[in-house]
Amino acid sequence: MKTRPSLLLIEDDPQFRLLLTTTLGHHNFIIHAAENALDALELMRSKPPNLLVLDLGLPDIDGQDLIRRLRKRTDLPIIVLSARNQEMDITQALDSGADDYLTKPFSNAELLSRINALLRRAGKAPGGVLEIFQSGELKIELTKRRVFVGTREIHLTPLEFKLLATLAHNAGFVVTHRQLLEKVWGAAFIEHNHYLRIYMGQLRHKLENDPARPRYLLTEPGVGYRLHEEGNAWT
Ligand code: CA
Repeated sequence: MKTRPSLLLIEDDPQFRLLLTTTLGHHNFIIHAAENALDALELMRSKPPNLLVLDLGLPDIDGQDLIRRLRKRTDLPIIVLSARNQEMDITQALDSGADDYLTKPFSNAELLSRINALLRRAGKAPGGVLEIFQSGELKIELTKRRVFVGTREIHLTPLEFKLLATLAHNAGFVVTHRQLLEKVWGAAFIEHNHYLRIYMGQLRHKLENDPARPRYLLTEPGVGYRLHEEGNAWT
C-alpha cells in the first residue's frame, strides 16, 4: 500500500481548521494541525510532514517570519492561505520561500489540486526537518533532548529544555516574553515574567561561559529573548 502523505496545517481559526482537517482527511492525507506558529515549529520536528499549509494571519508570529524560520530547516513545500486583502503579503510570502498560495475563500478541489501538484514536484522526498542546532560551542539535539557545550553534556530539567528548545526553533529571531511564557508554562502564565527571568538565569548559568555577558541566550530589552545563531546552525 502506498504511504499516505502527511500534511501540517497551521491555522488559528478553529472552524476553518476543523473543516480543512476533515476535508483533507477524507482525501487520504494524514493531517496534523497547529493553531499557532510556535506549536507548528514543534510539530514539524515531532511529526515531520510532506507539505505545509499555512495561514498567513497567525496570532503569535507573523506568517512571513514563520516561513523564514521554517526555511532555515526544511525544503518542504509550503502553501500559504491568505485573506482577500493581503496581496502584498502573498508576494512577500513567495519571496520568503513559500511555493504556492490560495486566497480565501477557495474550493476544496482547488486546494487538493495545488497540494497534489506540489507533492508530485517534490517527488518522494521524505518529510524532514533539520533538528540539530549548533552555534559556537553550543549544540542542541532536539529529538534526543541532549544539550552539549563543547564535548560536555549538560543536564537540563524538562522546563529548562522546553524553554531552550522553543528558542532554538526560532533561533536568530526574538521570541517575546509572552510567547515564551505561553509556550513553556501555558496560557495562564503569560503575566509571570519572573519565571522567565529565573529560568533564563539558570540556563545561562549552565550554558554560558560568562552568564553575565551571554554569547548564546541574548536579552532583547523589554521584548524577549533570542538564541544567537552563528553561521549555518542547522544540520
Ligand atoms: Ca488567521
